Amino acid sequence: MPRFAGPASFMRLPSRSAPADLDVAVVGVPLDIGTSNRPGARYGPRSIRAESVLIRPYNMATGAAPFDSLRIDDSGDVAVNPYNLDDSISRIESHYEELLSDDVITVSIGGDHTIALPILRAMAAKHGPVGVVHVDAHTDINDSMFGEQIAHGTPFRRAVEEGLLDCERVVQIGVRGTGYAADDFNWSRQQGFRVVQAEECWHRSLDPLMAEVRDQVGGGPVYLSFDIDGLDPAFAAGTGTPEIGGLTTIQGLEIIRGCRGLDLVGVDLVEVSPAYDTSGNTALLGANLLYEMLCVLPGVEPRG
Ligand code: MN
Ligand code: MN
Repeated sequence: MPRFAGPASFMRLPSRSAPADLDVAVVGVPLDIGTSNRPGARYGPRSIRAESVLIRPYNMATGAAPFDSLRIDDSGDVAVNPYNLDDSISRIESHYEELLSDDVITVSIGGDHTIALPILRAMAAKHGPVGVVHVDAHTDINDSMFGEQIAHGTPFRRAVEEGLLDCERVVQIGVRGTGYAADDFNWSRQQGFRVVQAEECWHRSLDPLMAEVRDQVGGGPVYLSFDIDGLDPAFAAGTGTPEIGGLTTIQGLEIIRGCRGLDLVGVDLVEVSPAYDTSGNTALLGANLLYEMLCVLPGVEPRG
């Protein structure tokens, strides 16, 4: 079968297995009504799946071949309610609770970043408070947005309040840009998070940083949440809230590859908005980053 043909799933994976027979479930979460600026991330899962057909199964750089050692399905999308954010959040939470009852690792395709809250609720219900590697231009710790508690700029604030995070094992990488007050970054630090601003990443390899991150967040379950806007708009223009001066594609790869060895219990790639992705490159990048995440999941050993 040529790569451009076959099932329209992520990397043309099967989608028929019962969760009990899986190690990993790829899940689309086509939600974008938590977005504050440019909308469109509801089409992220479809667009990322379309571009994912270009990816081959063997990782030439790391030797990982995730499909050799893990049973991975694309288990489809969460049926979100496009008219009701609160209802959507509870639907996402139940969907993940159901999946986690079968001990799968979830690989989520957003959707805007609001989806991290219900997913983290399900993760913490199963594993207890989790460590987080959070890549983003934004800290997403607003107290509220337009008076709303649930939005794509608030999930990590709510997660802290709800006790879902092991705050000393949380790192936020790539944050930058303009804000309303210094508190945007300092609140995170006051909770015990490590905050690595984009400027600290400029012009350098992130391999040394990731060695420190593994020391900080290891020793317990870890969730990796990757907002595509953590990367520079030169590489990832197709997103809702772009910020200049961001990470490079190479640094994104260093971060994900640097998560190898952590006890990853779930990962996501959020905020791809295809309407602003005129070349399809942002979705292609998102698909490749998701593949790289599969390559560092527990149980994947380099081949050869
Ligand atoms: Mn975000
Ligand atoms: Mn962001």
